[in-house]
Amino acid sequence: MSDRAAILKKLLASLGLGHYPQSLINGELIDGEGSGDGNAISGSTSSDVIELIDPYTEQLLCSYNDAGATLAHRACIAASDAQVQWYKNFSAAARGQVMQDVSRNILDKLETLATIESIVAGKPIRDSRVEVAKVAEMLAYYAGWADKLHGEVIPVPSGHLNYTVREPLGVVFQSTPWNAPIFTAGWQIAPAIAAGNGVVIKPSELTPLTTVALVKLAEEAGLVKGLVNVLCGTGPVSSVPAIEHAAVRKVVFVGSPETGKKVAITAARALKPVVLELGGKSANIEFDDANLEHACLGAQAAIFSAAGQSCVAGSRLLVQESALDAMIEMLSTGMNKISLGDPLDVATEIGPISNARQYTHVNAMLEAAALDGAQIATRNAQYESGYFVPPTVLSGLTHSAKAAQLEIFGPVVTAIPFKDEADAIALANETDFGLAGAVWTQDVGRAHRVAEAVRAGTFWINSYKAIHVSSPFGGSLSSGFGRSSGTDALMEYTAAKSVWLDSAETPRIAFGYVPS
Ligand code: NAD
Repeated sequence: MSDRAAILKKLLASLGLGHYPQSLINGELIDGEGSGDGNAISGSTSSDVIELIDPYTEQLLCSYNDAGATLAHRACIAASDAQVQWYKNFSAAARGQVMQDVSRNILDKLETLATIESIVAGKPIRDSRVEVAKVAEMLAYYAGWADKLHGEVIPVPSGHLNYTVREPLGVVFQSTPWNAPIFTAGWQIAPAIAAGNGVVIKPSELTPLTTVALVKLAEEAGLVKGLVNVLCGTGPVSSVPAIEHAAVRKVVFVGSPETGKKVAITAARALKPVVLELGGKSANIEFDDANLEHACLGAQAAIFSAAGQSCVAGSRLLVQESALDAMIEMLSTGMNKISLGDPLDVATEIGPISNARQYTHVNAMLEAAALDGAQIATRNAQYESGYFVPPTVLSGLTHSAKAAQLEIFGPVVTAIPFKDEADAIALANETDFGLAGAVWTQDVGRAHRVAEAVRAGTFWINSYKAIHVSSPFGGSLSSGFGRSSGTDALMEYTAAKSVWLDSAETPRIAFGYVPS
């Protein structure tokens, strides 16, 4: 066992977990049963035995069995039973109180959770700490909503008393990716349970441990066992049977557009609604009247933080042509100062790419860019081990080049010049995606015009990556549909029931519509 595998084992033991991922169903940790194929793989999606590889040392951390259909069914039944208990036996205020207790328990275990995340996902410890703290914040935020989710009285013309109730859906299935595992789990679990739902969640097979730990800590803090169940395994083997299960009423998927389509098709066959939070190719637009120093720092944060493995990464840097050379030079100088290294080192700003599959993809995209004639500014550095890709700026490409159109999901930015405001807006919208974007300018009117014209669910002015659980988040086109965060997420996790009461002495009954 490697040193880091030993550290991981100790940390997991301190939370009452085994040293490899087990599904958590009805409060019980259970080994996966798999699909029956029995092939060992590394980070693949079609087998029974899944290996977790440390992206920094490239050594095996642990391996485990895919959950499989039987466990998926058990998880759905457990969530269904617990949901009734959670919604009927707890007052709304009591549900909020439990969520506050869960939030505190997460904060108490922040360091342990963050360290597990950094070892498995290769995320710098400073980022992991922030993401765990944000999970606690999300739980506290939605705890406050639990007893404020009420309907309205509608003055219908017939004189009936007509009121609405926002009801939970029942059981929701959630699927999350590997790039921000505990953050994404908390992001979706918190509004779902605040609204009174049960949950079956399947984290990425590459990073399941912190989601299991989160739910275990939630149960220790008083969450009804079985209300949230975690399936550790792959999509085809463990998600599909859950999506198809009769108890599941909605599917919330966070991941790539390619998988999102498959999930939407599986859900559609069973007539289930979906929310899709998918990828992006966000335009970060820099006008020559911007404070270029700030704009450069913003561009670095937009694409190099999290090693570019962020759905909102500012991967298309659109720069007004008069400022392009200066910006590329500033970026190139700046990226040499970014500290790459061990995710567990507090000084590290960028860790390795999170897994071998993604590392291969990023390198293939860099090769494609070179073939398309890109000028490549990067740091020449040797790494003893680890899936490292240094910050890289591509220039000299047309906007239709692969590197400017496809999601790279690595620390690679494509710099493209534009002439004027109209050109910038046209280029920004020349994409299949619609997730995020930003503009840097000192002209307030232009900032608002561009914010209005660019197709994006989130847009920043002289800023990048500012997000908060209270503000809606989501995309359009290949970036998906539906909204997470804020009150929008609560609407996604509830349905309105309309209740009509006739208080007239002689009830207004008629064949057909009741006359108003
Ligand atoms: P992915 O689509 O490969 O996997 C996401 C999830 O889907 C995983 O849990 C995986 O096990 C599961 N899955 C895989 N095949 C499946 C199938 N056939 N049926 C059902 N489930 C299946 O994505 P990824 O590589 O884990 O994550 C990176 C992607 O996620 C990027 O595109 C990124 O932009 C996106 N992302 C989006 C947001 C957002 O909020 N919009 C946030 C984070 C990441």
